[in-house]
Amino acid sequence: MQVLPLADAYGRVATDLRVSLTDRCNLRCSYCMPAEGLDWLPNDDVLDDDEVVRLVRIAVERLGVDEVRFTGGEPLVRRGLVDIVARTRAISPDLELSITSNGLGLARTAQALADAGLDRVNVSLDTVRRDTFHEMTRRDRFDDVVAGLEAAAAAGLGPVKVNAVLMRGVNDDQAAELLRWCLERSYELRFIEQMPLDAQHGWSRDGMITADEIFAALDQEFDLTPAEEPRGSAPAEKFLVDGGPATVGVIASVTRPFCGDCDRVRLTADGQIRNCLFARNESDLRAALRRGADDEEIARLWVIAMRGKAPGHGIDDETFLQPTRSMSAIGG
Ligand code: SAM
Ligand code: SF4
Repeated sequence: MQVLPLADAYGRVATDLRVSLTDRCNLRCSYCMPAEGLDWLPNDDVLDDDEVVRLVRIAVERLGVDEVRFTGGEPLVRRGLVDIVARTRAISPDLELSITSNGLGLARTAQALADAGLDRVNVSLDTVRRDTFHEMTRRDRFDDVVAGLEAAAAAGLGPVKVNAVLMRGVNDDQAAELLRWCLERSYELRFIEQMPLDAQHGWSRDGMITADEIFAALDQEFDLTPAEEPRGSAPAEKFLVDGGPATVGVIASVTRPFCGDCDRVRLTADGQIRNCLFARNESDLRAALRRGADDEEIARLWVIAMRGKAPGHGIDDETFLQPTRSMSAIGG
């Protein structure tokens, strides 16, 4: 079968597909959504398991996608997750297959996910203090995340990566503590700059903790040297900690954008292609699926959807507008 690359007008080719399996979540991280949650997508709008697997198959077989990450909302609240993973693995043994999760319930499902063919997990954890965790996520579930991380490592879903967001006045004094905790457990920590993608539109440039601030805080307690491997399309700038081999990453999406090397494309839980996190337009593959389009037509629509990808997110432009969907509804 001829492979049509997901190329855009700036010479970038998307090979890394992020699939949101649900917009629902069992935490309420304050940088992501309000305490009361959001208006969830109606069930009928959400792609069913067969639709998800078909789109992933088209992406892998016809469009050159070689990496798939399931995310959300919280992917572990999707009932068919283990089956979706197994069916995705059956598409190709070579696909890099991972999930990004808040870790709740991972203790129960990590082994089943590994058996189904999942390679790795990224778990989001912003603090190792129970009270700060409760404050940031508005749920007292710190122990569940810790148990989820341990189960993921025991099931071989490694290297286990931990994603953390720092918020000024909340956990920005805890960067070194979190790194030490992760190093002791051999988890690979990556800090992510907070982006203007929260549903409440509470983000402000002054409020966010920058990569430089994160680096300065860690540098006080650790000896950080740039890791030698080239960054390529990987968003994290990696540093060796105290000479290595352990590393820490900083994803400076706002202050040092990596849009020029972006190789990502996103599929929302309701079947919309987003060629960028910050895109203001989407392409409706669900409508095509449900009116009976064949694989070739869907692949063609997907290629067209990528052509209009903007050169950058434009957060610093005066004309920047936050996308209508927030992070949890896009799939981070
Ligand atoms: N619920 C899962 C989780 O938390 O890992 C998957 C979805 S979540 C939207 C994916 C990632 O986006 C998480 O690591 C989370 O910390 C991050 N995230 C959410 N809102 C963000 C924001 N406004 N800026 C930067 N990262 C954000
Ligand atoms: Fe849920 Fe993930 Fe958003 Fe937190 S960041 S509210 S865990 S979707």
